[in-house]
Amino acid sequence: LPRMTVVGGGLAGTEAALSLAAAGVGVDLFEMRPGTMTGAHRTAALSELVCSNSLKSLDPGTAHGLLKEELLKMGSFVLEAALECRIPGGGALVVDRERFSERLTRAVESEPTITIHRERVDRLPSDRPLVLATGPLTHPTLTRALEEAIGSDRLSFYDAISPVVEAASLDFAPLFRGDRWGEPGRGDYVNVPLDAETYRQLCNDLVAGERVPPHEGVEDRPEVLRAFEACQPVESLADTGPETLAFGPLRPVGLVDPRTGKIPHAVVQLRAENREETAYNLVGFQTKLKYSEQDRIFRKLPGFSGAVFLRYGSLHRNTFLDAPRVLSWDLSLRALPGVYPTGQMMGVEGYTESVALGRLTALLLSPGGSIPLPPAESALGALVRALVPGAYREEGVPPGPEETGRFSPVNLHFGLFPPVGRVRGGKSERRKAVVVRARESFDRWWGEVAALRKLQPHLA
Ligand code: FAD
Repeated sequence: LPRMTVVGGGLAGTEAALSLAAAGVGVDLFEMRPGTMTGAHRTAALSELVCSNSLKSLDPGTAHGLLKEELLKMGSFVLEAALECRIPGGGALVVDRERFSERLTRAVESEPTITIHRERVDRLPSDRPLVLATGPLTHPTLTRALEEAIGSDRLSFYDAISPVVEAASLDFAPLFRGDRWGEPGRGDYVNVPLDAETYRQLCNDLVAGERVPPHEGVEDRPEVLRAFEACQPVESLADTGPETLAFGPLRPVGLVDPRTGKIPHAVVQLRAENREETAYNLVGFQTKLKYSEQDRIFRKLPGFSGAVFLRYGSLHRNTFLDAPRVLSWDLSLRALPGVYPTGQMMGVEGYTESVALGRLTALLLSPGGSIPLPPAESALGALVRALVPGAYREEGVPPGPEETGRFSPVNLHFGLFPPVGRVRGGKSERRKAVVVRARESFDRWWGEVAALRKLQPHLA
């Protein structure tokens, strides 16, 4: 039996271990709990949900629902367990958290080809393939070993995420394109000009807006607080004085509005998230405001009244890799080719995204020959493309902002899917077209994988 090591018995590690075992691989699974706990886990169970007990929407008309549909077609063990432990929660997949993690712990314990080691791993052995699934709260000794291997500037310990807005939902009439000191009307940035009154209103809203309290024991540690200080949320900057933002992230210098020929009082800059410019990031708008508050406040910006936010801003403790720069296209580490990071530390956010990567990593490592990466049009492929954009770029096409810009962890949203081109009707018709195309492309890929691995499609 080939043997592999999986480090971390969270959502991704459990999915990877069970999937590898099902593919005929012997697994040594290392989990440091209960001997060493993280700041957020409370039990010794595998696949413990550290916070909410919701795995988000099951509706296949949403990006998360689509990903779940794909995971179920792939026979994901964690997703199936979640469905078995489901409790009422509307359209969301909400689970009884104890039953869920107990069920998965039992499944791993009763798998004869998996050996569980309740031990902390402090270095990265390279004698056989190793799946690294140690998550957002990876033990510091291991992160130091990882930093030594890949470089300290390629690993982050906290997220400072700005909101991302869908381009098609914006009214561009009051906005203008232009880089600072660049030629007005041309450039990489889309600018949202604010007059003094709109700017004052924004600052007042930011100061008064309801904020998310820090996760106790995780985000109130000195090293995390220090890291947060280096990257202050917009509302904290607004707290310090009425003009701080106008001299900081909203400074207008060098940005002439071509329609007035003047420099506005302040400017919110939007930077494209992808080559196709289907989504924009609000530059410098990392925030700890509640999601509903972000929606309410940012919709008051010029051109934003119909804004659809694909991702909201946040700031929290998180260990993650600079995926586009450190991953090879087989999803191993360039610096350590036998090591396959997966789950949240690979550069995604969220329970379902982490499970999906655990399943994919196991599939790539299972015996039976190499398989192509999932297509960018599918939900799984959209997620993977955000991590290794170079693997999806056509030859000769230069790298886009996904590869050259600062990497921040990825939540799955429709802005990550390639655009569908012209579709009759509005937003909902465009979404439907994305969903239809995602299903077709996923099913084609999955059929191909099944044929390559000589398995029934539903068992590949
Ligand atoms: P985890 O599930 O964290 O699993 C990693 C495992 O590795 C852990 O069991 C850990 O004990 C183990 N480990 C770490 N270091 C070592 C080592 N050196 N040796 C051996 N074992 C090790 N996502 C959501 O979708 N919804 C939420 O509400 C949500 N809330 C969150 C709240 C907090 C405080 C945090 C930190 C994260 C939250 N997340 C949330 C993100 C969530 O943790 C991840 O999406 C998901 O759990 C990641 O799965 P994973 O398998 O990558 O990591």
